[in-house]
Parts: sequence; structure tokens; C-alpha cells
Amino acid sequence: MPFNLPGVLVPLHLLINPRLVVPGIIVKDIRQLDFPALYKAGYRGAVFDKDNCLTIPHEDRLVPELADAWRECRETFGHGNVLIVSNTAGSHLDSGELEAESVQHHLSAPVLRHTSLKPSYACIKSIRAYFASLPRPIRDEELVIVGDRLLTDIVMANRMSRRAPPPIASTAATEKSSSMGVDSELARSDRVGPLAIWTEGLWKRENSALRALERGMLKGAERWVLKPQEQAWRESLQHRFVKPPPVAEEEKPAKEGWMRRLVRRFRG
Ligand SMILES: [Mg+2]
Repeated sequence: MPFNLPGVLVPLHLLINPRLVVPGIIVKDIRQLDFPALYKAGYRGAVFDKDNCLTIPHEDRLVPELADAWRECRETFGHGNVLIVSNTAGSHLDSGELEAESVQHHLSAPVLRHTSLKPSYACIKSIRAYFASLPRPIRDEELVIVGDRLLTDIVMANRMSRRAPPPIASTAATEKSSSMGVDSELARSDRVGPLAIWTEGLWKRENSALRALERGMLKGAERWVLKPQEQAWRESLQHRFVKPPPVAEEEKPAKEGWMRRLVRRFRG
């Protein structure tokens, strides 16, 4: 794993603002996301992490189970509006941009070239420059940002949010909310920015201790920091944009313990 200075400094930022680690939506993987519903609500672009979100870490091909969901996502938002931002492919660690080229080919989506790792502000600047350069530019608040790491993907998404402008008179407010694109019911009262989506299921186990720490931070923030209205806002997002987990996953039998396996072997 490469040394990620912006990532190492995140805990200091979290001491000041623990909400940075809190996603708006939590899913097992992208199959649970209702992309047409997100589009209908006003979201126009998506940023995806690669490793353990779309691919097995350090591989360039999409996880086969995600094929339908990934196609639906790209068709919903449109080519060029779905961007892959990885701390491996396309970063300064990707010599000759070979991995970025390969991922771009296999996933049929552009990979951001960037010199500073997520969740740095320099990386955020590169993402904004990409979406601003599109024929129909996309603003931060029209983005969903999806990833499997709270301390990189989710913190980055939340760092892109800004304080909401103060409420204004009713007619002007209606004009304002419609001009902002995203359904005004979904906007948090105090912040404006991308929707942070955490994919908590892993395609391959890695960094277990770090992930346990991340989960602990999230639990702490949910329990001690979030206000009831913030929890209600998250629940409304979950209700509106998250589909049930794939049936095959639910039907999977519980893993047999070693004792049960031993008994079965003696019996059989
Ligand atoms: Mg990842």
C-alpha cells in the first residue's frame, strides 16, 4: 500500500469535524443503488473508486457480478459523466499510466489522472476541473461519490461540501432550489455538496485493522455527533435510493463452523 500523506492527516481533520467520515448512504455494493432514482432526483454525474468497489484490488477488470449495475449506471448518467478516481490507477504511482489505460478499456469509463492521492484537496481540484470541462458542466452538488473507504472516499466527498447559503424569501428560494438541480427535499439544510455513498462489502479482504478503525469512527460519529435531523436525512436517502440486496446474496447459506464440519465428517 503506498504511503498516503493526505490520508494520514485525515484523523487530525476528523478531530475538528467528525462528520467528515459519515456517508449519506450505505450499501453492500453498487447493485443496491437505484441509479435512475438518483438521476431523477437531479444527480448528473458519479465518481467511483476502483479497488474493492468496482474491481478486485489491483485488478483491471470489473467484478462480473456488477456488470448489469455498472452498465445501468453508465447509461443513466451518460458517457463521460461517470469518472473513476483511484489511488492506484491514474495516480502518480501508475507509471506510464498503463493501469489507467487498462482500467479505462475494461470498465468503459474515463479514469482521472491526478498527482495527489484521495482525499487531498489537490485531488478534489482535479475532479472539479474534470466535471467543469464537460460540454454540460456538473457541479459538486450534482455528484454522487462512491467508494469503499471511509477515510479516503467518504472524507473526500464530504470535504467537497460547503455551507448552504442562508434561506431567502419564498419565491426566490424556489427558483434557487430548482436552479441547484438536485431535489430540494434531499438537500441538507446546512450543507451543499456531493452525495457520499459507502460500499461496505469487500470483494477481497485487505487492511482489516484500518477498516475496523474506520467503522469505529463511523459508529462513534453516528452515536455521539449526529443530530436526530441528520439521522433522519440519512434514513430518507437510504429509503429513496437503496434497493434490497441481490437475492442470491440473501439466499446464501450461513457459513458452516469448524466444529459442525468436524462432527459431520465423523458422522459421514
Ligand atoms: Mg477502494
